[in-house]
Amino acid sequence: MGAPPTNSRHLLLEDRPLKGAPTLQRLRGKARPRTEVLRECEAEAAEMRESIPRVLWDFLIPDLTRVFRWRVQLDCGCIPEILTREDDTPPHEMQWKEHVHDSQLTRGQMICWHDESPPPPYRLINEWGERREVAFPADPVAPPEYIDPEAWAVIRHDEPHTSAFWKVTPACGHVEEAVASSLDWTPASGPHLAPPHRVKQMSAEFDEIWHANPELQTERHRNHTRRMLADGWPSPQPEQLCYSYPQVRMILAYERVGWLVPRRRKAANAARNATPALSRSTLKRRL
Ligand SMILES: [Zn+2]
Ligand SMILES: [Zn+2]
Repeated sequence: MGAPPTNSRHLLLEDRPLKGAPTLQRLRGKARPRTEVLRECEAEAAEMRESIPRVLWDFLIPDLTRVFRWRVQLDCGCIPEILTREDDTPPHEMQWKEHVHDSQLTRGQMICWHDESPPPPYRLINEWGERREVAFPADPVAPPEYIDPEAWAVIRHDEPHTSAFWKVTPACGHVEEAVASSLDWTPASGPHLAPPHRVKQMSAEFDEIWHANPELQTERHRNHTRRMLADGWPSPQPEQLCYSYPQVRMILAYERVGWLVPRRRKAANAARNATPALSRSTLKRRL
């Protein structure tokens, strides 16, 4: 498994032109009251101390007196507040996490979820990473409500089966999961191709289906199917939908808000040897 590409920003440029590097500036609106944020962090830290043995506090519970607050303007228009350890690295120079696959985003990117985001695009898979096997029981005989009985008869697995799920890195650098139905398959063996006469037959069948049901698949999915047919119907497919991509935003500008705990209080706290801290969940979300 190789490291994810460190800079895939050029791939985002096709849809999202960036106007230079993010700038430090005053952003519209204002930061939340500091005491309110601090109270939340302290409450989470207290909760965390209950579940973590004291001997590990220093390692797992960050020191709130070292936490710095920022606001960032994203290309979706949102201005979230974020927290970092110390204030020497601006938010767009850090690598933020995507939590579905627990992967690192490219510097300058953050996830900001919008339901009305565009659908996920197909991307060529650059890397095949870790693999896990998942066993499925046989499908029930009766079709689920949303599938018509004829289609169900074709796609239904009448026996238990196992598929391999691979962590893959599409060309845009995000992490997704792809399915390989053959358990023996490895990236080195290359995709398995369908016999040419079968591909020809499938092309004709798809044309027929699309002609009869113009609404069945969007143009995006059809184009994907056409590419797969043109490539000899490879399995596993070399393309993967990137679900992260529509939710990934670029940081356009940022603002320094200040220390979560004013610096003079830091000294006082140190003297009292009391270490307020952030919970892991808060950190995961914010750091
Ligand atoms: Zn947003
Ligand atoms: Zn992506």
